[in-house]
Order: sequence, then structure tokens, then C-alpha cells
Amino acid sequence: MRRLPPAHPFDADAFPDDKLREECGVFGVTGVADAANFVALGLHALQHRGQEAGGIVAHDAATGFNSARRFGYVRDNFTSAALMETLPGPLAIGHVRYSTAGSKGKTQIRDVQPFFGEFSLGGAAIAHNGNITNAEELRRELIDRGSIFQSSSDSECIIHLMARSLQRKVPDRMMDALRRVEGAFSIVAMTRTKLIGVRDPLGVRPLVLGRLGDGHVLASETCALDIIGAEFLRDVAPGEMVVIEGGRVESHRPFREERPRFCIFENVYFSRPDSILGGRSVYETRSQIGVELAREAPVEADLVCPVPDSGTPAAIGFARESGIPYGMGIIRNQYVGRTFIEPTEQIRNMGVRLKLNVNRALIRGKRVVLVDDSVVRGTTSIKIREMILDAGAAEVHFRIASPPTAWPCFYGVDTPHREKLLAATMSEDEMRDHLQVDSLRFISLDGLYRAVGEAQGRDPAAPQYCDACFSGEYPVAPSDQIARGFALKAAE
Ligand code: SF4
Repeated sequence: MRRLPPAHPFDADAFPDDKLREECGVFGVTGVADAANFVALGLHALQHRGQEAGGIVAHDAATGFNSARRFGYVRDNFTSAALMETLPGPLAIGHVRYSTAGSKGKTQIRDVQPFFGEFSLGGAAIAHNGNITNAEELRRELIDRGSIFQSSSDSECIIHLMARSLQRKVPDRMMDALRRVEGAFSIVAMTRTKLIGVRDPLGVRPLVLGRLGDGHVLASETCALDIIGAEFLRDVAPGEMVVIEGGRVESHRPFREERPRFCIFENVYFSRPDSILGGRSVYETRSQIGVELAREAPVEADLVCPVPDSGTPAAIGFARESGIPYGMGIIRNQYVGRTFIEPTEQIRNMGVRLKLNVNRALIRGKRVVLVDDSVVRGTTSIKIREMILDAGAAEVHFRIASPPTAWPCFYGVDTPHREKLLAATMSEDEMRDHLQVDSLRFISLDGLYRAVGEAQGRDPAAPQYCDACFSGEYPVAPSDQIARGFALKAAE
């Protein structure tokens, strides 16, 4: 049997599962002893936002800045007492990543954040969630002016722009740098004494502030506060920079004010269901998406099943609203996908069956509604339909908790090229025929907006969220992509 070339030794997922992927999680804490231990726990809670690699930088008065960057899971690296003892001090930040920009699919250790820079006025480390849409242009300009890049990451531009600023304080340098940057950024940064959090003016990616005893915490999601017993204080506002030192939180507004455009897909899929986004439980929102979907796309059926795990709350909402019984018709094996370091071709071909198995006793003879969070390429949906029919289902109906994903994301989510997105080339009916299911319906964009709390739906003149991957309306022009020939949606 031919063996495939070895996968990356820490390949986050040797069996790509036809989902969009969130790219990064960030976490920082100050004012507590052994801050790096809390950062490791916080990153563990954010592991769903990036499984490829992680890093921590800590500062201690006696030893200065110390850092560790590793491939693989937080639990496999940052639980070693020997390693954590090298990261002493009361101030630390960390990052988990799955690459969006830079050397996608072949990450090198130099691409793993946090990045650290030593300036004339002291050092600083930054961890970035998001994607800089003018990074290539900035990089070219910085290289022309003499900057020497260490990594292929877009985030490194921020360090170089900070180094060139004439401001005297690191937070001011960071503000200078970020005013040149376009796109999405939720950043956690640190100096010797300060913990800094910043969100881009549109607030595309999340960032929250919490309190831990006398200290403070910044995190991508509230689930990372919960794991360390920190109290949620508030979201860092879009366009806000918070500078935390000596137990005080200073708030700055360094950017021109803009109407926020938070990523609506965080509600559907990326964030953990036990997190709170914009004051609302993600679980509740997802369940409400299922309610809206049942109202918009009712179906005669015997059983509602989630495609685990992210389809679960929407399936519960769908079942509640439709009155159709809910059941776990598909069971997920939580431990597959990370197990086979060098999968053989035969194992790869098993594909979805390695991750998902059908509960035959429940499915047999039933008209089944499968609720999934999204359809990207459609390859997984086809395999799931095959499995359900093999198990004896009478009919298969797909209900999708997001509108058709027809456009790539350039704001920190890994999406296939546009032509690989099923919805970019097919109508809903064509997708139904392609997937060979009895029916296929997606929630409408208005329905999704209602589910996230906008009673009147989407305001077409001034959309309340970023929904570019559904609508093709990009709130920040992806200038690097346009320069490479990406065609924006034609004006209607
Ligand atoms: S394009 Fe889609 S995934 Fe990307 S930020 Fe906007 S809504 Fe989120």
C-alpha cells in the first residue's frame, strides 16, 4: 500500500472536515502570581479557536521577558511544570493559532505568536486574532524601508510599525501602528508593566475584559474567564484600547468612530456555546436560530438530529418549534482526527466515518431532519447523507443554521477559495440536487439577524453585523486580495 507523505507532525486535523475555521484565540492576565499558569488554562478553554500551535510570553522583574512557543495542543505543552517554571511573573499573554495569514498549512515555529519586539523604550509582546487586509502592502513598504521580517505572519507588521513610531510610550506606539492597519484585529499585548487590549473600529472579532481577584484578564471569549474563575466585566468595545496597570483600567479611543460590524458567524459556529457574546448566551442564540429556521423552512418529519457538535443547539430549537422529536442520530467520536499522526490513504478514505457514526436504532425507517451549522464545500454533507440512508432512514432533509456561504472571509477565518464554496456556484435547489437530499433549506439572512436579537432583521442600508461571507458585502475592502485579482460583488 502506498503511504502518503507524513502529515505535519502536529497536524491539527489530518481529516479536514469541510468547515470554516476560526483562526486564533488570545488571552492575557495581570496582577496575579504565576500569570502564565492562568494563561495556559485560558488558552486551553480557547483551543477551539486554533489547534495548530500556541505560545505564552510572561514578564518577571527578576528575569525579564520569557517566552515559549510550541506546536500542538495547549494541554500537551503548557502543562509541564518544567516549562511553566520558565515563565514566571505576574503578567503574561498567550495565543492559540490556526494559520489564516502567513504560511498556511506549514506553520513554522517563528510564525507562532505572541510576537515580541525590543524597542529603545522597552520590550513589548503582542498576540493577534483577526486578519490584516492590507498586510502585503504594509510588508512591502516596511521591507523597502529596511525592516527585516522574522515570520510570514501578517501580525508581525504591527511590531515593525510600532518600532518605527516616534511616540515615547508603547501604548502610543501601538496606536500609531494600528492606525495604519486595515481589517480585523482583537489584540492582547504587554509591556513590562502593562496589559493592553485593543479591538479594531468595527469590532469584527470578540475581546472581553474580566477580573480575577485584584488582577485583570483579557480573553477572546468569556468561556476562558470561566475556566479560571474570573468575573466577566464587559466587552472591550469596538475601537477601544484598554491599558491595565497597577489594578487600574484606562480606556482610550484611538480610532475614528465607526458603526460596529461584529462577525455574525461567531454566533453560529466559531464561539463556544457557553460563551456570552454582546451580553447574550451563544447557546441561546443558536437555539433561537433553530426556532427561526423551523418557522422559515418547516418540514414533515419524524426526527430532528443535530450534526454534532455545533449543530446541536440549533437542532434543539428546531425540534422545540416544530414539535418534531429530537434525538442524537449521529454520535461524534471526540478522539478521532487527532489520533492518527500519519494517516494512510485507506484511513483517510474513511473520512467522516472516523468522526461520526450513525445511531442506527434511532434512524431506521424515519424521515430525518439533519440540522448543521453551515455548508462549505458540501463534501461532509454528502457523506452524512450516505451514512443516514445506509442506516435505513426513509428521508433526509437538511436544515442549515446559516445562510449559504458564498464568499470567502478575509477577517481571520480560514475559507476555501470562492470557487470551492458550493453556494458560490449553485442555487439552493442545485445544492439540494448535488447533495441528493429530499430537501435543503438555509436560514435567511434576515432570519439569522432576528435570531441574534435584531427584531427587524438585517438593515440593508446599514447592516448591524459583518455578514460578508453570506452577502458578499465586505465592511473593509480586502485590499491585498483585490490587488491579487479578487472580484468584489458587483453593485446591484
Ligand atoms: S466574513 Fe463571515 S466569517 Fe468573516 S468576519 Fe464576516 S461574518 Fe465573520
